Amino acid sequence: MTNSTNASSFIKRSDPKIYDILQKEISREDLTLELIASENFVSYSILEMAGGVMTNKYAEGYPGARYYGGCEHVDEAENLARDRAKKLFDCEYVNVQPHSGSQANMAVLMTFLNVGDTIMGLDLAHGGHLTHGSHVNFSGKLYNSVSYQVDKDTGRVDFNSVRSIAKEFKPQLIICGGSAYPRHVEFEQFREVADEVGAFLMADIAHPSGLVAAGLHPSPMNYCDIVTSTTHKTLRGPRGGMIMMGKDIENKWKIVAPKSGRTKMVSELLDSSVMPGIQGGPLMHIIAAKAIAFNEALQPEFKIYAQQVIDNAKAMSETLLSKGYNLISGGTDTHVVLIDLSNKDVTGKLAEKTLEKAGITVNKNMVPFDKRSPFITSGIRIGSPAITTRGMKQNEMVQVINLIDKIITNIEDQSIIEKVKIEVESLCSSFPLYSELHN
Ligand SMILES: *Cc1c(COP(=O)(O)O)cnc(C)c1O
Repeated sequence: MTNSTNASSFIKRSDPKIYDILQKEISREDLTLELIASENFVSYSILEMAGGVMTNKYAEGYPGARYYGGCEHVDEAENLARDRAKKLFDCEYVNVQPHSGSQANMAVLMTFLNVGDTIMGLDLAHGGHLTHGSHVNFSGKLYNSVSYQVDKDTGRVDFNSVRSIAKEFKPQLIICGGSAYPRHVEFEQFREVADEVGAFLMADIAHPSGLVAAGLHPSPMNYCDIVTSTTHKTLRGPRGGMIMMGKDIENKWKIVAPKSGRTKMVSELLDSSVMPGIQGGPLMHIIAAKAIAFNEALQPEFKIYAQQVIDNAKAMSETLLSKGYNLISGGTDTHVVLIDLSNKDVTGKLAEKTLEKAGITVNKNMVPFDKRSPFITSGIRIGSPAITTRGMKQNEMVQVINLIDKIITNIEDQSIIEKVKIEVESLCSSFPLYSELHN
């Protein structure tokens, strides 16, 4: 393998300082349990492409219509990425240029809304995302933002309140999907509400897109006007974003461009919202790496992987329940498990810090109706995508939860933390990661 991080590394010779830092990160990823639900480990092929020469190319514009010469090969790469994405998600339009999920969302908001219009998304503290209207984000600063919540008992979106908030505030755009929602997103029910108030409906499948691609989570394509995603979470591609539209949606939504007043196709408006609206040159090395990721996700093995992701999350949630942990919504349909630690007398912040000392990486997370601040929180979010990529299965999930439980129930005990750390390293070494990249 010719990756520039192995023993014959160019970096090693040119810049030992950063090489050393890279080696430490490779070891960290290899020897710790990565339970952050939004992270995953990409293939060597994706690493190679993401570190390849296409990083050199300026290609503002779209295939066949660039502002720069010499784009014939990157055009092919972007077309391949788009064709594969269309096949993977069964959609008619895709834009693979957004540098991130947040930028995909920004481009959509810029397309469908004027500044000051009203958007409606899932409350951040109930599992939503910053870009769904948080007041610290552009989406809450430029737009009038209202939010819906989950039901206190079921932990699922409360459609009575979604409907009544939508009727009261008449949002131009409703956003469904989130970052810490353990259940399937209810696209069909959101469609009903959007139709009742004449709103556009956007699905943000940043988290479950790999499960959607594998056919193991309902697809938003027939219900939502517009779909955004990241490419680096369950989809297991390079870090980035994408925008999609399902079949026959384009014809339904020939809309008037907010600025020029001319009637345009939505696809045209979306493309120009991404570039020149919010981005300049696309990251062609990343777009080519997205093409590889889409192809990987089209293979039968990916479906087996995605099923294992879900089986593993279920195994973790069942083990947690058996140990008296409270889970938001009582379990999971996806890769995400959201744990309320209130009854364990440990804050999310302390749990995250202490687990990290033992080599277990999770993130603190608000739980619905949390009484603590976002910097402390009452919960942690865990996810199965990354450890499933390493090859771990249900038996290992039980072990992982046993280790987490040892820490949570002995949160001050230094010797337990050290013992767990040794067990974590031994579990990880049975499922080696990136062994070809080690020094
Ligand atoms: C992760 C995430 C995003 C943003 O992705 P970035 O690439 O980090 O900008 C957007 N929406 C949701 C729901 C997410 O979970």
